[in-house]
Amino acid sequence: MIQSQETKIAIAAVTAATQLCQQVRQSQAYQSLSKADTSPVTIADFGSQAIICQALAEAFPHDPVIAEEDASLLSQPKLSGVLNQVTHQVQQLLPQVTPEDVINLINWGNGQIAPRYWTLDPIDGTKGFIRGDQYAIALALVEQGIVKLGVIACPVLPTISGEHTGVIFVGVRGEGAREISLSEGKSRPIRVNSGNNTRQLRRIESVESSHSDRSVQDTLDQVLNWSKSPKQMDSQGKYGAVARGEADLYLRIPLAEFSTKKENIWDHAPGVIIVEEAGGKVSDLEGKPLNFSLGSKLIENRGILVSNTVIHQQVLEIIVQIENGYQ
Ligand code: AMP
Ligand code: MG
Repeated sequence: MIQSQETKIAIAAVTAATQLCQQVRQSQAYQSLSKADTSPVTIADFGSQAIICQALAEAFPHDPVIAEEDASLLSQPKLSGVLNQVTHQVQQLLPQVTPEDVINLINWGNGQIAPRYWTLDPIDGTKGFIRGDQYAIALALVEQGIVKLGVIACPVLPTISGEHTGVIFVGVRGEGAREISLSEGKSRPIRVNSGNNTRQLRRIESVESSHSDRSVQDTLDQVLNWSKSPKQMDSQGKYGAVARGEADLYLRIPLAEFSTKKENIWDHAPGVIIVEEAGGKVSDLEGKPLNFSLGSKLIENRGILVSNTVIHQQVLEIIVQIENGYQ
């Protein structure tokens, strides 16, 4: 298969970031800071963003990158020790970089929406990364509001065969979706599960209970008479799980206390194309497609519904009923 320059660069960049993240996690001596919104960030989040931004800035200097992190914390003089740790990690892959370069590379990710742009989540599921569970490195290319390419690396997720650890999910518009084994480099096409027998189907959800309304989800499971309990996983690896048929449904239903909170584009753009190219469907809870042309948040969408396509409409209708007081 002939790969575009974009696909090649994106896969190489996330692969390099994977090495940095695993190197940091294995060292176990990494520092974790708290951001203004109280969510955690580690030296691996910053290092991963620097590595991927360097690759994108070099190959596509005119493309803005809209990434999760910025270097304001690291620029504080009292955190110079943390900046030095990030620089040390990045230097394992880019030996010439200085602390100042690291700040500039991280801030390369503070771009604005344009007709063509990249989204980057340098570590999605940071809580999972810290806990020793699943995490992902997620990159997407968006053109005219349409996701054209999505890459999600899950460094500690087993391959579909279960033989190896570490996968990269790739979706390219019009060219299908695949899973690459990080250790062997082998690529296999992936497909959603096409079944609709709800006794065989399985839902996947976040480990963090605040990220989706579990009472609505539990009612849905009862209405659909699903026999399998949901699988839990941190990160956008959940999109990969649906794309490769391991799960059939993944929901993000905002809890009442977070009803004004909107989803970030970098948490969903890569997964949308991977699932769609594997034969699945992604929409919000009203059935509308996710709108990636409005800024760094999905301001016109409420919630997320990712499915194997077959059950999509039925789930949409049941959620409306549950939210309107169905018992
Ligand atoms: P997950 O790994 O699926 O639990 O999702 C991790 C992502 O959840 C992070 O990237 C955050 O941006 C996002 N997040 C944080 N708080 C919330 C919330 N209250 N509702 C929905 N998503 C959230
Ligand atoms: Mg994230």
